[in-house]
Amino acid sequence: MTMKQQIYTRIDQVKDILEINGECNVFLVTGPSSYELSGAKLQLKPILTKYNVTYYSEFAKNPKVEDVQKGIDLFRKSNSKIILAVGGGSVLDMGKSIAHLAKQPLEAVSYITKKAFVTETTISLIAIPTTSGSGSEATHFAVVYIDKQKYSLAHESMLPKYVILDPHLTESLPPRITASTTMDALSQAMESYWSVASTEESRTYAKESLALTLKYAVVNYRNPNIDSRAAMQKAANLAGKAINISKTTACHALSYTFTSYFNIPHGHAVGLTLGSLFEYNAAVNSNDCNDPREIEYVQQIFCQLKEILGVSSSKEAAVKINLIMKEMKLETSLSNLNIGDCSDLSISEVNLERLGNNPRKIGAREIKEIILSIQ
Ligand code: NAD
Repeated sequence: MTMKQQIYTRIDQVKDILEINGECNVFLVTGPSSYELSGAKLQLKPILTKYNVTYYSEFAKNPKVEDVQKGIDLFRKSNSKIILAVGGGSVLDMGKSIAHLAKQPLEAVSYITKKAFVTETTISLIAIPTTSGSGSEATHFAVVYIDKQKYSLAHESMLPKYVILDPHLTESLPPRITASTTMDALSQAMESYWSVASTEESRTYAKESLALTLKYAVVNYRNPNIDSRAAMQKAANLAGKAINISKTTACHALSYTFTSYFNIPHGHAVGLTLGSLFEYNAAVNSNDCNDPREIEYVQQIFCQLKEILGVSSSKEAAVKINLIMKEMKLETSLSNLNIGDCSDLSISEVNLERLGNNPRKIGAREIKEIILSIQ
């Protein structure tokens, strides 16, 4: 059962949320530069003057376990009971991980590696995205890296209690971050739609998200205005709601190696295999169908996706996905990103949990073929 979130639309509503909670101490998690760039700092400064604020921003993108532990230690000293996280998916995930683990007796690593478990997140979180891609404000999990390996913390109670979706905070995004985060929203919605764990509800969110992304992605990259920013923020949020139910699949599973080893931004990394995996998954047969709803169901899902994309074959779908990337000046081939044949690395590092969600079975040989197809 998904917890209910309280959704607000203006960053100055932080004032109301903090007043309802009646806490004097606030733990503020932000990006080192996006807090100011997004305009959040300017708007929150007068609101936060009457609170004791502890700031945590000195951590790198794609949260690492050491930084999560540092955040937890700082949170404990701060005597806060509420966390305000303002930033991209990395910052929101950091806020979620601290909120989930700060009251626990063991070091963060024990829970992240699933040697110990948390029964409930008891610290309230206000999540304010400043990018439009991760949808992390709408999910009950957070990504943490340990030595380049990607782990997830997941618990129903990790869903942020308060969310502020204010599109003005995304107006400062430079085109390259708009492009990469857009690909995260697109991939999440598409993967969610074809995931073996999809439901009617998740597909409704994913379909609505895809419609918005297909309409606004390139416009919002080339010539953004507040309407296109708001549309992409909604698309990302809906994609987050969709994966919150269905989780992601092979594109995400393969992406973490590109990010960890080759520093490719998360959304771009995910988008690299989206077209190839569309083609691969659409060619499902009765021997390799991974979805308990069986092959006719999966085939019907791909017919629907082709209709949503406005194409008549899976080849055309892959071309269209890559065209969207090219129009947003994102490289679609590994060699243009100076990445050689990394198929063996991808096979050894792949996240098996995500492959189990893929509608078509996929093993080492298929991963190699997919990686080579984007070389
Ligand atoms: P990000 O949070 O890593 O931020 C990317 C860059 O954008 C940073 O350099 C940041 O400073 C900058 N930035 C953020 N807001 C800005 C603004 N308004 N103006 C200018 N610059 C700004 O990127 P992301 O794509 O938002 O998030 C990716 C992370 O989220 C990854 O670690 C990924 O694993 C995680 N993720 C989590 C979930 C989840 O459900 N928990 C889902 C998808 C992705």
